[in-house]
Amino acid sequence: MKMSKLFVQTQREFPADAEVVSHKMLARAGYIKKLTSGVYNFLPLMWRVLKKVEDIIRDEMDKAGAQELLMPFVQPKELWEQSGRWNAYGGELMRLKDRHGREMCLGPTHEEIITSIARDSLKSYKQLPVNLYQIQSKFRDERRPRFGLLRGREFIMKDAYSFASNQEDLDKEYQNMWQAYTNIFNRCGLATKAVQSDSGAIGGNVSHEFMVITDTDAGENDVFYCDDCDYAANSNHAISNLPEAVLDGKFDKAEIVDTPDTHSIDELSAFLNIPSTVICKSLVYIIDKAPVIALIRGDKAVEETKLLNAVGGVEIRIATSGEIEEMMKENGFDAVAGFIGPNGLKKYGEYDIKFVADKTVENLKNFVVGINQNDKHLVGANWGVDVELPEIKADIRLVEAGEFCPQCGKPLKVTRGIEVGNIFQLGTKYSKPMNAVYLDSDGKAKPYIMGCYGIGVTRTAAAAVEAHHDDFGIKWPLSIAPYHAVVVPVSVKDELQMKTAEKIYNDLLAQGVEVVIDDRDERPGVKFKDADLIGFPYRITVGKTISEGKVEFVTRATGEKKDVTSDEAVKTVVDAVNNIQ
Ligand code: ATP
Ligand code: MG
Repeated sequence: MKMSKLFVQTQREFPADAEVVSHKMLARAGYIKKLTSGVYNFLPLMWRVLKKVEDIIRDEMDKAGAQELLMPFVQPKELWEQSGRWNAYGGELMRLKDRHGREMCLGPTHEEIITSIARDSLKSYKQLPVNLYQIQSKFRDERRPRFGLLRGREFIMKDAYSFASNQEDLDKEYQNMWQAYTNIFNRCGLATKAVQSDSGAIGGNVSHEFMVITDTDAGENDVFYCDDCDYAANSNHAISNLPEAVLDGKFDKAEIVDTPDTHSIDELSAFLNIPSTVICKSLVYIIDKAPVIALIRGDKAVEETKLLNAVGGVEIRIATSGEIEEMMKENGFDAVAGFIGPNGLKKYGEYDIKFVADKTVENLKNFVVGINQNDKHLVGANWGVDVELPEIKADIRLVEAGEFCPQCGKPLKVTRGIEVGNIFQLGTKYSKPMNAVYLDSDGKAKPYIMGCYGIGVTRTAAAAVEAHHDDFGIKWPLSIAPYHAVVVPVSVKDELQMKTAEKIYNDLLAQGVEVVIDDRDERPGVKFKDADLIGFPYRITVGKTISEGKVEFVTRATGEKKDVTSDEAVKTVVDAVNNIQ
């Protein structure tokens, strides 16, 4: 490919909405072009990268025994009603109607469709286990599309679904996919950590996410991990053991005391001169439309996904001050956040107010709690005497670094991660409601035991940029680079330089290297800048030293530069390309 013909316009500036490196660089280097919020054109360079990621995925999935198919992007409501997800999936599900008024959705994931295929085809235990996958565009109307390809609305995903007749076969397939994922990300040049995670809208019990660890904003997940054992979990799933803490407030008797202007836990504990660990904090949430009050120890924070799982529902958010005001009024109180407590709160609109107690409050004695009166708290409170302990008790606490590993007891650390892939054990979550059954060896009809396995193709490519770049541009791993090398004649008007460059270019092409020759009549500085920005793994520069038979060979990943003969340069690139796994 000639650079003069390559469909690429590198930009001086990056888009104003680009917050993370991969978005900035992919836009500046001419890989992507935004169409509308969270929806991108994949320009030729990007498409080459994506196809390489897809090919690696395909190769490993096929080797692992999975079979590729392709399901439609548009899906009918009926199947989603059968699984119960038409209502359960939140605003991310893009719903639409056809000209006959039939309701449809754009596929955010394909459990319903694949289950409907299986139930018509996999009738006997003898046909199981099976793993089917596709690579396809997905649409999710994300609340906050951002970070370019990392969180788009339309994006490419590999999704696989396995069907088994027993748990043992599901466990085996789960391990099989785990290994395939490890191979895929290694081959894409990405080090990943498999972490335990919440199963979210997909459902199921056991699940792991494959995270690219990063210390930048691009990592949207907090990952808690232990250096002394293999424990690693997403914050939405992480648990920990807590250090010893004061749990007895030592108040002689229960009484209401003035606590003026103590809107925060810090202010309250300073005012009363008590540790925050003897305060029971009450936080008001809205889950879908219903009010839920979380009770948690003063020094700890709520993990919203855990709270959502404890009561069930789709979307969770903290209540607004307006909603709290209304709720107080309806129950005959007048109090703002900071003074809320469980006593006397019954209803909000048409809903009963639910309470959830975190494990950290269960053992509190003589504690401090709000009583829905501004500037006042109850001190010396005890469960069952002054305050009822809610029926729903659950771990809804956000883990913090330094708390102890649940497996080995050593202090946990925290880092950020980009989730590039996800594996779930679904069990019968879809097969049961959709009545997707096979005949077992005992002649009985049983629902399939399913697993599902996703990889974000576009997100993986963007994560590779997050992991491999410098101030000047992208440093693609050779395996997924759009081209392996660029040959740069310093002066296209110099006959010897141009001839040598063309010979190197042709030699490389002949040996299967994907190569670009920068034939533009531009200053060398401009060409080098573009080469660094686009991120060709190797650059062979043909300049004045060609009179001594030498070219400059630059390895983008390391920045290493050396003068070598043309033949040596060609051989190094060909060997490297032949060694791509
Ligand atoms: P997230 O928590 O980041 O929203 P998810 O748990 O919703 O991800 P899955 O439903 O497991 O994701 O989808 C499988 C894979 O698809 C993810 O591991 C991720 O790589 C990719 N993916 C999910 N949502 C997006 C998105 N909005 N943009 C790009 N890739 C995505
Ligand atoms: Mg999501």
